[in-house]
Amino acid sequence: MDYEFRQKKAAASLGEHHIDAILITHLPNVRYLCGFTGSAGTLLLTHDSRTFFTDGRYELQAAQEVENAKVVIKRSAPMQSAAEWMIRNGRKLGFGSRNSFKLGIEAEHLGAASAQRLGRTLPQGCKLRHTSMLVERIRTVKDTEELNRLRSAVLLGSSLFDNTVNRIRGGVKETEIAAELECDARQSGAEGMSFQTIVASGKRSALPHGTASTAAIPSRGFVVCDFGVILTGYCSDMTRTVHVGRPSAEARRVYEAVLEAQMAAIAAVRPGVSGSEVDSAARKVLQKQRLASYFTHSTGHGVGLEIHELPRIAAKQAETLRAGMVITIEPGVYIPGKLGVRIEDMVVVTENGCEVLTPTSKELTIL
Ligand code: ZN
Ligand code: ZN
Repeated sequence: MDYEFRQKKAAASLGEHHIDAILITHLPNVRYLCGFTGSAGTLLLTHDSRTFFTDGRYELQAAQEVENAKVVIKRSAPMQSAAEWMIRNGRKLGFGSRNSFKLGIEAEHLGAASAQRLGRTLPQGCKLRHTSMLVERIRTVKDTEELNRLRSAVLLGSSLFDNTVNRIRGGVKETEIAAELECDARQSGAEGMSFQTIVASGKRSALPHGTASTAAIPSRGFVVCDFGVILTGYCSDMTRTVHVGRPSAEARRVYEAVLEAQMAAIAAVRPGVSGSEVDSAARKVLQKQRLASYFTHSTGHGVGLEIHELPRIAAKQAETLRAGMVITIEPGVYIPGKLGVRIEDMVVVTENGCEVLTPTSKELTIL
């Protein structure tokens, strides 16, 4: 991973946010910028310096993982030790001069109490400034190494689904399906699941976030499976909806409409197009089928070190897509008390359009 390049990009955007430095506390951002994968660490980034703070538990790991940053190990919590270090090194950083020093914090991630405590610890002349999504924006465009990792995660997820399908039948509990899928994932080298596995069958398929329950899969109806694996730090995310028993005419109609909407959204993905344009491509298809009111969530989201990243593929999202962004396309239709269908692929935005990463078939599978 080219940490130096990423740090330079982050440093270059300090000015845009009107800050002299930023204290990175959100762990995926810390990992993105310097490689540290532990659970306690903070990175202080200025225009020309990077200092990483962690505690004694991570001394060895920090030495092995952290690249292109000075490592400071202290007993106190990383943010506290960063504040103390700033007091001691104030002159180097530019404190004490007439102009005040503006330290950015990641407002979305740092709780109000922590921010207040930090504000009280910092020396006079140093002012806290809330920033939003400074590193997250840089993370939206994936580099080659990240794309390779994402591809591997997607392929692993897809291969696991082939086995999962064979286990789905009436009478089996949703949790059993999820458990076997998750066990297979770990056996195959996944570090964990990207999120709580969704297996939602029968009427439960109408719950967009129906995490696997102890309900038995009915002998006839849809089963929505939405899951992802984490492999070498990167998340996959896919949904397939299969049908147990003979599907009704309505079930078929809904499935075909969702599939058409998903394909229409994929066809709309290319550089320069906004998230809302892709979203409305899916919605238009469902409108024609009078199903749009049952599509109650957004069309997709970025994926990478985290399962939900920028950009958002939703209404009112004016930010445009760029080559190298990796997003999901996942429209769904949920008819309460009846049925639900969602189909989700991961795609990478290319120079001329996009490439679908998820290889699993989207034809309606009837079990
Ligand atoms: Zn998903
Ligand atoms: Zn998703």
